Formats: sequence, C-alpha cells, structure tokens
Amino acid sequence: MHKKLFIPGPIEVSPEILNAMATPMIGHRMPEYACLHKGVTDKLKELMFTRDRVFLSTSSAFGAMEGAVRNLVGKRCANFCNGAFSDKWHNVTLACGKEADAFKAAWGEPITPEMVDAALATGKYDAVTLIHNETSTGVMSPLPEIAEVLRKYPDVVSIVDTVSSMSALKIPLEELGIDCCVFGVQKAFALPPGLAVFTASERALERAKGVPGRGYYFDFLEFAAADEKDNTPSTPCISLIYALDRQLDRIFAEGLEQRWQRHAEMAQFMRIWVLEQGFGLLVAEPYRSVTLTCATNERGVELALLKKRLGERGFAFDDGYGKLKGKTFRVAHMGDMRLDDLREITAAMESILQDL
Ligand SMILES: *Cc1c(COP(=O)(O)O)cnc(C)c1O
Repeated sequence: MHKKLFIPGPIEVSPEILNAMATPMIGHRMPEYACLHKGVTDKLKELMFTRDRVFLSTSSAFGAMEGAVRNLVGKRCANFCNGAFSDKWHNVTLACGKEADAFKAAWGEPITPEMVDAALATGKYDAVTLIHNETSTGVMSPLPEIAEVLRKYPDVVSIVDTVSSMSALKIPLEELGIDCCVFGVQKAFALPPGLAVFTASERALERAKGVPGRGYYFDFLEFAAADEKDNTPSTPCISLIYALDRQLDRIFAEGLEQRWQRHAEMAQFMRIWVLEQGFGLLVAEPYRSVTLTCATNERGVELALLKKRLGERGFAFDDGYGKLKGKTFRVAHMGDMRLDDLREITAAMESILQDL
C-alpha cells in the first residue's frame, strides 16, 4: 500500500507530474533540450522575481549547497544555525576546507537580523549561509529584515537555502539582494527528488572567479558558460526537468497569490488543530513556518505508536527530527497539498488518539 506523504519531504507527487516524467527521452545537446531548459529557467526567474542566472543541478540540495560554499567562500564563512539542516551546513562548509564559524540560535528560534549584524560587523566574513525555513523545527526566519542587514555589507556574499519554502510564499530574490538561493525540488515543489535549483548574482559570479578549488561538477563558472547555450555542464536529469516544467505551468495556472494564500490557510488550519487537540506549537509567532507545523507533545502521546497506526491507515507521518524525535511531530503542508488533505490526516489522528 502506498502511504500518502505528510512528512516534510519528500512530498506527495501528483500523477500529472509522474506522467510528465514519462516523456520520451531527448539528448541534452539536442535543440529540444535547449528549448526545455530555457522555458524552465525563464519560468523560475519569474517565480523567484529575479533576473539573475538560474541553474539546474542534477543533485539533491546539499550538492548545490556544497557547490555554493566551494565557489563563494573566499575568506571565511558565517554559518547561521538554528536546527538540523543549518547545523549540517556548517559541517559542509568545514568539509569543503573553508574557514567558518557557526552562530547558533536554539532549536525552535529564528535567526535574527541582530545576530547577522553582530557577526558581520566583525569584518571577518565574506560569505554567510542561512536557511530561510528550518524544516527540522518549522521555523521561518525573517528574511526581509535579514536581507536589509546584509545590504549594509556589500562585500559579503549571501547563500540562502529555501528548500522547503520557495514557491509557498513570496521570496523576491532580486529585491532582497540574495546572491545565491538554493533549493531542491522534493519539498515545496512536490517533485520526486534528484534536482536542485540555484541562482547566482553577478557579484556571486565575480566572487567565484577569484576563488580557487571550485571543483568541476558544481563550478559556477561552468554552469554560467553552459547557460549561455541554455544547457548544463553535465548530463542533467531530463525527466525531472520535464516534471519541473509541468509543475511550473501548474503553479502559474493556480496563480502565485492563490498559491501563497493556500499555504497560509493550511498553516492556519494546522496550528488551530494542534492547539485544540491539547498539543503545543514549538515556534512562536511570527516565525511559524507556512509549509509545515511542528507540534510539541504536551499530551505525552506515544508518537512512535501514533506513527505506526497512521501508517496502517495509509499515512506517512513524522514523529520529530533528530533530537526532537518523540518530543515533537511535524505535519507538512506544502507542494500540491490542500486543506482537504489536512482534514483527512487530522481526522485519522483524532480517531487514533481516542484509543492511544
Ligand atoms: C531537506 C532539506 C535539505 C536537504 O536537502 P537534500 O535535498 O536532502 O540535500 C536542506 N535544507 C533544508 C531546509 C531541507 O528541508
């Protein structure tokens, strides 16, 4: 039995997208690919409100992230950490042989503009990494306010992970001045995993030119050169790019405003349900994510058992990430999900909780 995915990634993939992946294969040096590539990157630019380069990376998000670090950190990187994924980014930065420091907020707390300002005021850093939506805790850090601080430091290149937020709310990259935005398609885009998207501002490409050891597979300059011909340096995951093309058409057909509104409504629904059921919310307003809700287990429910029972009824459920396992549970509301999907899982949870 297929379990319907309510975990925060990968997300349930609609049949239309799976069908798009069955499009007959083409060669990536054929004109048909250039046409597909240009269509997809143009639509992504519209979605992300940017005229910067947009690149397609055949990897998961951490591949493009490793690339961003290798290409954009010259002197020293400030990694802002407030959960499992942002902690990992610090490790990735060190693993790439870069000088870096971690600036930590507690799990469940956001990264604040003040933290970023204090770190950058030292003058030690020429790059920062930051996660917009920390999927392990359901925290959305205040990107517009942070971006305002970043603009005070024109020599600092900003690398921002929007893996679980891009497309769910307005993230106007150019207006914000984000140099490199990275996301994978298996979360907020609801595609199968294996493709990541990243942007590079002119400033980012200039920086890359002076940074040695960029490697080959994720060399931003290789991506920029291939992009001139609407192409990628290596053979891309063409089936996923067909799927992304179809998903972008569906996103624009729904309407961006409507899509953002749908996510806001689902988030509101989940928060109210969680509190009504006697659970708590890990994150305080206004930092609650619009794409997933992280509930604290105030009722002391045996979450592993709840997960098992939900599994028997055909739902894939998350009982907390890393050190929050058993203490919290997370329900995703992103991608193609609708209020009716949330009504379905919450009804099942209510029924199971009666007997637990
Ligand atoms: C899932 C996730 C990642 C990891 O992405 P991979 O595609 O597994 O490399 C990174 N950052 C955030 C915020 C995520 O939610």
